[in-house]
Amino acid sequence: MKSFPQHLLDGYRTFQTQRLPTEQSRYRELSERGQSPEVMVIGCCDSRVSPEVIFDAGPGELFVVRNVANLVPVYTPDSGTHGVSAALEYAVNALRVKHVVVLGHAQCGGIRAFIDKTAPLSPGDFIGRWMSMFIKPGEVVEQRDHETMADFTVRIEKAAVFRSLENLMTFPFVKTQVASGALNLHGAYFGVAGGSLFVLDQTTKEFRSARDGE
Ligand SMILES: [Zn+2]
Repeated sequence: MKSFPQHLLDGYRTFQTQRLPTEQSRYRELSERGQSPEVMVIGCCDSRVSPEVIFDAGPGELFVVRNVANLVPVYTPDSGTHGVSAALEYAVNALRVKHVVVLGHAQCGGIRAFIDKTAPLSPGDFIGRWMSMFIKPGEVVEQRDHETMADFTVRIEKAAVFRSLENLMTFPFVKTQVASGALNLHGAYFGVAGGSLFVLDQTTKEFRSARDGE
């Protein structure tokens, strides 16, 4: 068996000597009391878009699900196994989170594969099948006249956030909690190059910069 990556061991030792001493009591408390995060984040697997880093969150603060292109499927109570739905069920019905944030991002490989109609990476075409949930039956997603490829890509990356928010509301327990005011749904978009965060204004349906002074 290959040895465990050294840089991960080095990273753990840095955590152990630098971060853990300041957070030890917090870990102990969370261990005894259990977790009670107020926020669930649904983000992308992309290694550049870590919710804990972006939101400067400590242990126990964020309940995170990450998948290719931060997608939430439509509520499908069938015999299939649904990872995002299971996490959502736990977050909403057991943890009683107050907020669900769908975090999209720039240069998303999943969206890129969807736009480029990339050839399957394996016979199972798991990415292709996963990304197919992004479009509704009969829906056509195309570049508009005079729209650059860069603008089209950003539009679709943001559309993935809108679609996930829309699909969240197909879950009866989400719909009920949102209607009662106990749960709030939010969209956000992370610009990787500038480290910029844009938060969705649900009224105007536009993403606004969260930076100070903007
Ligand atoms: Zn992504």
